[in-house]
Amino acid sequence: MDLQLPDLGILRRHWSDYRDPASTHAFDVHGITLGGSRPVIIAGPCAVESYEQTLHIARAVKAAGADLLRGGAFKPRTNPHSFQGLGRRGLEILAAVREETGLGIVTEVMDPRLVDEVAAHADMLQIGSRSMQNFPLLSEVGRSARPVLLKRGWSSTLEEWLCSAEYIALGGNRNIALCERGIRSSCHWSYARNLLDLNVIEPVRRSTPLPVLVDPSHATGVWNLVEAMSRASLAAGAHGLLIEAVGPEVRREDLQCDAEQGITPEILASITAAARDMRVPLPAAAC
Ligand code: PEP
Ligand code: MN
Repeated sequence: MDLQLPDLGILRRHWSDYRDPASTHAFDVHGITLGGSRPVIIAGPCAVESYEQTLHIARAVKAAGADLLRGGAFKPRTNPHSFQGLGRRGLEILAAVREETGLGIVTEVMDPRLVDEVAAHADMLQIGSRSMQNFPLLSEVGRSARPVLLKRGWSSTLEEWLCSAEYIALGGNRNIALCERGIRSSCHWSYARNLLDLNVIEPVRRSTPLPVLVDPSHATGVWNLVEAMSRASLAAGAHGLLIEAVGPEVRREDLQCDAEQGITPEILASITAAARDMRVPLPAAAC
């Protein structure tokens, strides 16, 4: 099926280095290559809640084989009375945990005014699903030297998602990973939180050389669906996964957000073992 997309610089047809559909714009995040043939596993808590909790989970995900640590310092919450994250203190905690474990940090930035500050602490800037069309924010991270993880908006088309990546690229930053995280559908909060759109991976990879990640945690919303969807995502051509994990011996009722979807280190170890046995498949168009 031919995709009708506007003329964007991030498309293969305009990015002369990557006309070959088998090629990917790989880049480095704290010593880890994103977009190569080895799937990258990014794991950690939904939110940074304390230094002890973050260090505990970071050590556990590292032991389970994760490559990079995720964790939100600034949390986009639907309800303004919900925990909003530790903010600047959360950034300091993440930097301290990187110091302690050596794991590079992926964390969300929501406010264009805070891009430099978040970039000073993090190795990769996450743009959340709700911010995918915050155009001033996209332009600001486009001026940053840090790689960007761009979540798909939960009701966005492929075209809208790629246009958002183009806003970032226009600022000069083409180190962008696109992250599918599920779209709103009739399953919403009945058996799953969202519908994981695995169909989208192949057309994204055909259209642009930017690497594609999948977040099976926000896509499912329940921990016992995460392993199957992780394996399916890798089989469908994802370059890596962004996964929420809980610490060993966690009491879910004590967590401040997304308590139901974090996987245990044992499940994470099973996913990373599967990933280590795989190479990222070529997009179908290149086979
Ligand atoms: C997250 O990954 O922390 C997050 C809030 O995800 P999303 O933007 O996909 O909802
Ligand atoms: Mn979360």
